[in-house]
Amino acid sequence: MYDGIVQDLIDEFGRLPGIGPKSAQRITFHILQTPAFDVSRLSQLLAEVREKVRFCEICGNVSEQDRCSICRDPRRNPQVICVVEDAKDVAAIERTREFRGLYHVLGGAISPIDGVGPDDLRVAELMTRLADGTVQEVIIATNPNLEGEATATYLSRLLLSLQIRVTRLASGLPVGGDLEYADEVTLGRAFEGRRTL
Ligand SMILES: [Zn+2]
Repeated sequence: MYDGIVQDLIDEFGRLPGIGPKSAQRITFHILQTPAFDVSRLSQLLAEVREKVRFCEICGNVSEQDRCSICRDPRRNPQVICVVEDAKDVAAIERTREFRGLYHVLGGAISPIDGVGPDDLRVAELMTRLADGTVQEVIIATNPNLEGEATATYLSRLLLSLQIRVTRLASGLPVGGDLEYADEVTLGRAFEGRRTL
């Protein structure tokens, strides 16, 4: 334990996801011992991100405007929508450069244990987007784990009544893993080999 604000800062970093007590201490001492570290830039960015960044009114991706850069891009194919759990998955798929359609961010996955049902996700918003008949294919790119599979199954049944092709990313993705941690090649291949549900 350290005195006062040093410990406060360590505790605060330690509350962030993926940062344990040791990393929190390392980050804190890096800041303390590195005069060149730009503290004001970091604090300014933290405040700005909070203030300016919101979620796209169409797809739910992070955006500094009402609509994200992908939804605003006229070169994207509006006939294909890729459904993901998180905005982080959008970034992961964009890195593969395999996909030129639009996205729909659910904001999580169905998980009865955690009390998350379809109503807690942006499922109704997805159905609204599909209503006008523009979309020809929905690619379900939820995580290859229990919750992601349950969500994919639920969505594929829900979309059955619509005349839309529903596909799921091919295997090759590590089962039980997170999409955002898949390497670009694996994720790219999974896209190419997606199968119809
Ligand atoms: Zn968007």
